[in-house]
Amino acid sequence: MYDVIIVGGGVVGAAVAYELSHYRLRVALVEKEEELSFGVSKANSGIIHPGTQNPPNSLKGRLCIQGNQLVREMAEPLQLDFAEVGELIVAFDEEEISQLWHLKDEAEACGASGLEIVSKEWLRDNEPNLNRDACAALLAPTAGIISPYRFVYALSGEARLNDVEIHTSAEVLSISSGAGTRSKNGRGYVLSTTAGEFATRYLINCAGLYADMIAGMVGVHEFSI
Ligand SMILES: Cc1cc2nc3c(=O)[nH]c(=O)nc-3n(C[C@H](O)[C@H](O)[C@H](O)COP(=O)(O)OP(=O)(O)OC[C@H]3O[C@@H](n4cnc5c(N)ncnc54)[C@H](O)[C@@H]3O)c2cc1C
Repeated sequence: MYDVIIVGGGVVGAAVAYELSHYRLRVALVEKEEELSFGVSKANSGIIHPGTQNPPNSLKGRLCIQGNQLVREMAEPLQLDFAEVGELIVAFDEEEISQLWHLKDEAEACGASGLEIVSKEWLRDNEPNLNRDACAALLAPTAGIISPYRFVYALSGEARLNDVEIHTSAEVLSISSGAGTRSKNGRGYVLSTTAGEFATRYLINCAGLYADMIAGMVGVHEFSI
């Protein structure tokens, strides 16, 4: 009987496992693929976003800025290959420059800091390989890069050291209410997977593009991906 089972071993599941590994809980992560980080988390651009290009005051915008800060805090203890390289959103004409000011306002409303509109001369000096027609850019100095695959393994490796069980090749096929389990409401969940059954008091759905299917298995059909 686990306290928590996390479904999905992408960056979100690995981060949840890392966080929960600091508490006295019996935690397992189940992942359908043979390795972690084999969903979307293996093949993205590796940008730790600075908070630009999100709707103002949106949850996504706020979490983006919090996430940027958290990665910095984790970089040293987890030996992440995070590098703060900054980001340029480039404009090629007057109309695009006015859009840069709009993006800057929106990002600042979400809490992004250090943003600056830089000139053609600045771009020539600092990014000489940029297209010579670029006439301005929005500079976001807090943007960074990371290896997304290594990030997942750094998080899950630390979780495993703290006794979180990681089960790969364990696809969740169905979930039933575990009547008689010792959860707060007396039910909990029993997960049937390709690696056997797991009973848990709490279930955390980190199945990425399949999160709607996992939600559907416990009777939640309010969203689809
Ligand atoms: C082209 C591209 C570029 C991107 N660039 C960036 C970027 O630069 N910066 C950034 O921050 N974000 C970027 N993203 C977004 C980012 O990659 C995702 O938001 C992130 O990887 C999602 O992580 P996740 O853990 O939610 O999902 P996933 O990594 O997909 O993890 C979900 C896991 O659940 C598993 N799973 C699913 N169903 C089951 C089941 N039934 N049983 C067991 N396991 C199951 C899957 O196998 C998978 O491993 C990009 C995305 C794309 C597509």
